[in-house]
Amino acid sequence: MRLDITTLLIVTFALTFLVGLLFLLSWRQSRDMPALLVWGIAHLAGSVASAGLALRGQIPDAVSIGLSNTVMIAAYGLIWSGIRSFEGRAFRPVATFAGAALWVVLCLVPAFYEAIAARIVVASTIAAIYTGHGALMLWPRGREPLPSRRPAALLLTVYAACYAIRVPATLLAPPTELRSPLDSAWVTVLCLASMLFTLVVAFLFTALAKERAEHRQRVAASTDSLTGVANRRAFFGRAEALTATGRPLTLVLFDLDHFKAINDSYGHGIGDTVLIAFCEVACTLLPPDALFGRLGGEEFGCLLVAREPKAVVAQVECVRQAFAAIRVADLPDLRLRASAGVACGSGIRFDLLMRRADAALYAAKRGGRDRIAVADVALKAA
Ligand code: GH3
Ligand code: MG
Ligand code: MG
Repeated sequence: MRLDITTLLIVTFALTFLVGLLFLLSWRQSRDMPALLVWGIAHLAGSVASAGLALRGQIPDAVSIGLSNTVMIAAYGLIWSGIRSFEGRAFRPVATFAGAALWVVLCLVPAFYEAIAARIVVASTIAAIYTGHGALMLWPRGREPLPSRRPAALLLTVYAACYAIRVPATLLAPPTELRSPLDSAWVTVLCLASMLFTLVVAFLFTALAKERAEHRQRVAASTDSLTGVANRRAFFGRAEALTATGRPLTLVLFDLDHFKAINDSYGHGIGDTVLIAFCEVACTLLPPDALFGRLGGEEFGCLLVAREPKAVVAQVECVRQAFAAIRVADLPDLRLRASAGVACGSGIRFDLLMRRADAALYAAKRGGRDRIAVADVALKAA
């Protein structure tokens, strides 16, 4: 089957242009993701550049070779810049357009401008650097888990590798200058490959943006906005899941002492600072695998799996002491105290464990506050 090359080139141009427009449209709906805008501009630039390259022989070489390649290389710089922006890094205009600027400078040198092999080597090297580094930035490294990260990074790696391989291939078998790219058998293959690449990149980058928005919504829905720890809903959800495993659990309930008086004496702002300070102390001193969350107001919960209750009590005591040692700037008279109730059990319902820990906390309060009380019996399922 013979594919009509003119049709292919028109479709490549139209597809890249449409993808650019779709990126801009997505950005209009998610203005907090400037990467979409940058990728949109990159694709629009890429479509114009591909049209210029396709018209080689029909338009002046200065436009086809010089300008179109400059725009194409700038489009790769913008793709790279969009990935930087997606990763929360600052816009670097010099690095973004350094490749395009280098191309312009080199094109002013006649020996370079007239040597197709040199042009392919330079353009491919620049494209390989932008796409390769883009792949590295996207590669998942345990941060923000987005399912499309890996395929997007892999795709860019393959693309970068194709460009990188083109460098030695060109040096080993230098191509001859053609008046029109339509004369080359490779154009059909390259057109199809770039169409596929554009489609898959558009799909994956859009998926990344969507996955990030969903991930942020999920995190926001499960995080306490003041302290940044798990909120009540998230704490109970994860606690129920841990209880279902049937493993031995230790639950600690913390309640700050006379917190209302802190609010009343020093203001709500200082009260908030105290809540944040307590969470910082607890998150630093409690084991990293502990489930810690704000259950409401000045009450916090901590759930630990398969721990020796004595060891847990020692850690809770460290939290109590560290909290009591905090001094708030300009408020030397402010004393911070907390009480805690501890209960253990395995194979029992979580609400039962809660009730036991709550009873222990109540005992700590009644006993004079600023202390830890432990529910005397560890409950076991019958
Ligand atoms: P106790 O020693 O018996 O625990 O007494 P308490 O004063 O700590 O407990 P109480 O339940 O009487 O007061 C809790 C206060 O916590 C009342 C409420 O206004 C305050 N509070 C709840 N949420 C917040 C918050 O997000 N920020 C601030 N600053 N205060 C809060
Ligand atoms: Mg309370
Ligand atoms: Mg309290």
